[in-house]
Amino acid sequence: MSNKLISLTKEIERLAAAHPHVAPLFQAFGPLLAEKERWLQETPPATPVPIDEDRYRDGAALLQQGPLFVEADPWSSAGLAVARAIGQGFPLFAEEMAKWAKEITAGVDCYALLDGGTAPEADDIPSRKLFLEFLARFMLTRVARSMAKSLAPLTWNKGYCPVCAGLPHLAILRDKGQRFLQCAHCSHEWPFSRLTCPACGHEDPENSQILFIEGHKEDSVFTCDNCKRYLITGDRSGGLGQVNADLIAMSLVHFDYIAQDKGFQPMAACPWNTLPATEE
Ligand SMILES: [Zn+2]
Ligand SMILES: [Zn+2]
Repeated sequence: MSNKLISLTKEIERLAAAHPHVAPLFQAFGPLLAEKERWLQETPPATPVPIDEDRYRDGAALLQQGPLFVEADPWSSAGLAVARAIGQGFPLFAEEMAKWAKEITAGVDCYALLDGGTAPEADDIPSRKLFLEFLARFMLTRVARSMAKSLAPLTWNKGYCPVCAGLPHLAILRDKGQRFLQCAHCSHEWPFSRLTCPACGHEDPENSQILFIEGHKEDSVFTCDNCKRYLITGDRSGGLGQVNADLIAMSLVHFDYIAQDKGFQPMAACPWNTLPATEE
């Protein structure tokens, strides 16, 4: 195992112990995060996609400029990795995932399953929804990683992801309080103005709020009264290296309860923040 994978595995264990109320989330999704990292390290990087810099500056994410995937991408190894991880984290789906793995090995085309596109919108079968969602995440993260260096010097001031056009699921404050948004789908990170709502572009501080929890000043949730969405924010300006953004988001899931209870919707729905509807 590489150092990065070892530290991710350790971080999952540490957070599960430090946040017992969300330990079941780490048990369920931990294998998916670890397997994604392992798969990305074992898989050759994605071929860079062309960037039209003028269109990019005008707000056209790479996905809006052209396809991010080709059929020749490593779909079956990604599908097998996702099926294995879901089988470990979600014992109820283990049998089904073992069956899927057999079918993928026998030649079922994961590229076609995903319809060559990104995250699936509506799929009623929970195991299938989870599988397709993480298959998209694995593949998109591979593209985002291979594009990160080329995108870093380019100007991007939208609240959606410059790679896949997805909305952020988490903001991280780094040095000097600079806010970085984390894409829910491809894990790309980009800097964004601290007071603007990434979802609707609203800038009026009167209509946005920052909620804190007593005794935990470093983490907060940004809520926008204009579009009724929220974004959880982790303050990592102390700078203790890179922490996996999905792990930070899961350890702050209590903010999802608070914000959703106040009638706000997550900026990006993730499998761990899409809580059962609380009907009045
Ligand atoms: Zn993205
Ligand atoms: Zn808004």
